Amino acid sequence: MSITLSIIYLIATVTFVIGLKLLGHPETAKKGNLISASGMILAIIGTLFLHGFEDVPTINYILIAIALLVGTILGWIIAMKVAMTKMPELVSLFNGFGGGSALLIGLIEFSNNVGAESTEKASSAIASTILSAIVIGSITFTGSLVAWAKLNGSMKDVRLPKYNLINNILFLALVAFSAYIVVLNTDSLLLIYVLLIASLIYGYLFVAPIGGADMPVVISLLNSLTGIAAAITGVLYGNMVMIVGGILVGSAGLILTFVMCNAMNRSLTNVIFGAFGGGSDVAAASGGKVGGTIKKTTASDSAVMMNYANKVVIVPGYGLAVAQAQHVIHELEEILTKKGVDVSYAIHPVAGRMPGHMNVLLAESNVDYGKLIEMDDINPQFSNTDVVLVVGANDVVNPAAHNDPSSPIYGMPILDVENAKHIIVNKRSMNAGYAGIENELFYNQKTSMLFGDAKEALTKLVAELKNM
Ligand code: NDP
Repeated sequence: MSITLSIIYLIATVTFVIGLKLLGHPETAKKGNLISASGMILAIIGTLFLHGFEDVPTINYILIAIALLVGTILGWIIAMKVAMTKMPELVSLFNGFGGGSALLIGLIEFSNNVGAESTEKASSAIASTILSAIVIGSITFTGSLVAWAKLNGSMKDVRLPKYNLINNILFLALVAFSAYIVVLNTDSLLLIYVLLIASLIYGYLFVAPIGGADMPVVISLLNSLTGIAAAITGVLYGNMVMIVGGILVGSAGLILTFVMCNAMNRSLTNVIFGAFGGGSDVAAASGGKVGGTIKKTTASDSAVMMNYANKVVIVPGYGLAVAQAQHVIHELEEILTKKGVDVSYAIHPVAGRMPGHMNVLLAESNVDYGKLIEMDDINPQFSNTDVVLVVGANDVVNPAAHNDPSSPIYGMPILDVENAKHIIVNKRSMNAGYAGIENELFYNQKTSMLFGDAKEALTKLVAELKNM
């Protein structure tokens, strides 16, 4: 490798590290993304022109150029068109593409290094690396596609009888079969295709049974696997940038997985080998029956209540993103603050449909970051809060997580809004949230339901408050 290319790779690696650091805060995330993307473009250009592919036929360059062009145009169109609410699905799809690339590279490199195309026998280390790329890439590929289908609502949880046992046996079988192929030192493509199909099936079975409340953990785990798959392919090519980039994505994803595990009150071993959705083979626990009467309220009554409050806490949820009401909620917060009300936002770690969803959404409307209070810090404050305004949130404020062992979200820490003096819940209907379960909070004596689309309801609230 030329010294210039080494320097280019070093610069690219540094941009990944700086970019990742900047991605850690909503205010600097955009810049971080741009810096890392520039580093990646630099690395691609450097590889294409300085790697010394003298003996590569021109047609390969043409094919690469076409792939780059098509990928760039498609990526640009998708990124420009995607709605904020579809972002988590897009991330899952991109994760899947990352895994798919790793598995294809694994297949090609098997032929080149071990199979028919190889000139000499590959070492066990190379064979293991290739098989890891195929297995991890395949699991990430189908697992991410299932996550994508679940997030866009086109697929429901699928739980086979004894699914945990089946999954764990299949996982161990995959590891044992891979080891067998390496020890056998075989060039049989048939065995590789069996491994490939088994890994694809495992990816499906791994994510298919996962219940509502556990999806965030799996999404960040798949994210991490994409990075690991990329790093493994980097090892295959001895390419530092791919290795470092992959490791950064893999480890950042793993840290996020731990953060999500803590938020969901689960251990990582429980997530990987244990029972998703709580408990052993509890088939789609539906939660206990909830009932009673609900109390409806209007924008003007809600405005009066908030106008005379000392402390208001806003709980944003997925519905806020659906309604794109982040700007009007900021306006509401500013009006209340001007009136002397102490206003803050309660951020649940899995609110919305992707880790950090609410932080990103509220940063978009320039909400002061200091006003976003994490769950553990805000929970003790609810008992001295006059009004909690829940906007498009449901599962993250569902008391069933505390008091209904049959609920799929049982054990998940929630925002204890019940402890506040008054609760106003804005949503369009009595429909359930992502976990598909009823919410007894809506029937609580202290709760008033403000029905309607979040943007419309909040706009009316703002208008009423302006007139007071
Ligand atoms: P939920 O999905 O529990 O509830 C959202 C609520 O918003 C719905 O009940 C819906 O009720 C309401 N809503 C939808 N559109 C609008 C609108 N236009 N205006 C007003 N309300 C609206 O959201 P939460 O944020 O409380 O919880 C997130 C859930 O998603 C958790 O179960 C979490 O595990 C899961 N999840 C989270 C991920 C993450 O990484 N954050 C990833 C995958 C899943 P209605 O239809 O009546 O309006």
